[in-house]
Amino acid sequence: MYDVLVIGAGPAGSNVSYQLSRKGFRVRMVDLKEKIGIPNHCSGLVDKRVVDIVGEELVTDRPSIAEISTPLGSFSLKSERMRVIDRVFLDQKLASMAESEGTELSLLTSLTEFHQKEGRVVSTLKSRKGFETVESRYIIGADGPASSVRRSLGIKSPKLLSSLQFDLSRKSDRVKINLDRKKTPDFFSWEIPNQNEVEIGASGLNSERAVRDMAGGSQILRKRGGLVPIGPTELGRGNGYLIGDAAGLSKATTGGGLYAALNSGNSLSSAIENGNDVLLGYQRKWKNFFGAEVSRDFKIRRLLDRYEKYYSLWVPLASSSISGINRVGDVDYPSKTMLYMLYSLPLRFPLALMEFVSKSISS
Ligand SMILES: Cc1cc2nc3c(=O)[nH]c(=O)nc-3n(C[C@H](O)[C@H](O)[C@H](O)COP(=O)(O)OP(=O)(O)OC[C@H]3O[C@@H](n4cnc5c(N)ncnc54)[C@H](O)[C@@H]3O)c2cc1C
Repeated sequence: MYDVLVIGAGPAGSNVSYQLSRKGFRVRMVDLKEKIGIPNHCSGLVDKRVVDIVGEELVTDRPSIAEISTPLGSFSLKSERMRVIDRVFLDQKLASMAESEGTELSLLTSLTEFHQKEGRVVSTLKSRKGFETVESRYIIGADGPASSVRRSLGIKSPKLLSSLQFDLSRKSDRVKINLDRKKTPDFFSWEIPNQNEVEIGASGLNSERAVRDMAGGSQILRKRGGLVPIGPTELGRGNGYLIGDAAGLSKATTGGGLYAALNSGNSLSSAIENGNDVLLGYQRKWKNFFGAEVSRDFKIRRLLDRYEKYYSLWVPLASSSISGINRVGDVDYPSKTMLYMLYSLPLRFPLALMEFVSKSISS
C-alpha cells in the first residue's frame, strides 16, 4: 500500500512527489506519456521567482521588453524579471529529483478509475502490461487541465480554451502580446522569443487564423497545442486532491500556471505531512499562499469579459503610468498592476468605477 498515488508527472505531480518522498512518504507517480515532458505545450515564460525555485540552468532566454498592443495603439514595458525556461528540461529535472528521493515512477501508465473506501483509495492503472490495482491513503490529481481525477471526484471542470502555437525560425528580443479581441475573442495572441526562434500562439476562438496571420512568411519549425483552464475549481473531496492545472490554478488573465503548479503541490504536501483534516489544511495553506491571487485574477478576467468593449482602454490607461507599472508590474500578481493603474489615474478615471472594480477584485 502506498501513502500517495500521484496521477501525472508534469511540474505539479513531480514536485509534490519530490516533496512527499523526501518527507518519508511512500509515493507512486504515473504518467501516460512515454517520455517525461514530451510533447511540450508550454511557452516557458516565467517570472524570475520561478527560476529561483527551479534553477538558473533552465533559463534559455531573457527578454527585457514586453510590447502590448490593442486596436487603440500599443505601449512597451521594461522588465528585468522575465525569463524563458526549457520546459522539457524542467519536467525531466523535477521527475528525476522525485525519483532520487524514492518516488516510484511508471510511464506509459494511466489511471482508468478509482474509488474511495473506508479511508483508502483503490485505483485501477493501465499500462502495456495490463491492468493493476493500487491501494493508497491519498490520490493526487496532477493530471493537467482535462483531469480525469477531477472528473472522478465529481468536481466541475473549469472552462478550457484550446491553444495553438507555432515555433518560427525568427529572432526577437521582446515578448509581444496582442489584446485585439476581434482577432482572438476569448483570449489574446502572443509572441515569445527563445534564442534563435520565436514561439507565436493564441488561445480560444479563431486561434488558428490569428497564428497563421502572425506567422506571415516565416518558416514554421514546429506546431504545438494545449489547453488553458479558466478559473479555479474545488481542491479535492475526501482523500482525493487536485493541484496545478487539474485544479484550474493557471492565471485566468495570462494562462501562466507554472508558479501555481509548483506551489499548490508545496501547500498540499505540507497539509499531508500535518495529517488531520488534509483537505482543510490544503485549502487554508493554498489560500494564504497564492490561492487568493488566483481567485482575484479570475475575477479580473470575468470583469474584462463582461466589459469587453472597454478592453482597449487599457492602452491609454497603461500608457500614462508606464514607469509605475514597470516598478510594480508582476506577471504572477496581475491584480497589483490592475489596482495600481486604477488608483494612479484618479482624475481621468471616474472614482465610482474605480471603487466598483477594486471592490469586485478584492471581495
Ligand atoms: C499554450 C500554453 C502555453 C503556456 N505557457 C505558459 C508560460 O509561458 N508560463 C507559464 O507559467 N505557464 C504556461 N502555461 C501553463 C502551464 O503549461 C501549466 O500551468 C502547467 O503545465 C501545469 O502543470 P501541471 O503539472 O499541473 O499539468 P501538466 O503540465 O499538464 O501535466 C499533466 C501530466 O499529467 C499526465 N496525465 C494526464 N492524464 C493522465 C492520466 N489519466 N493518467 C496518467 N497521466 C496523465 C499528462 O501526460 C501530463 O504529463 C501554458 C499553457 C498552455 C496551454
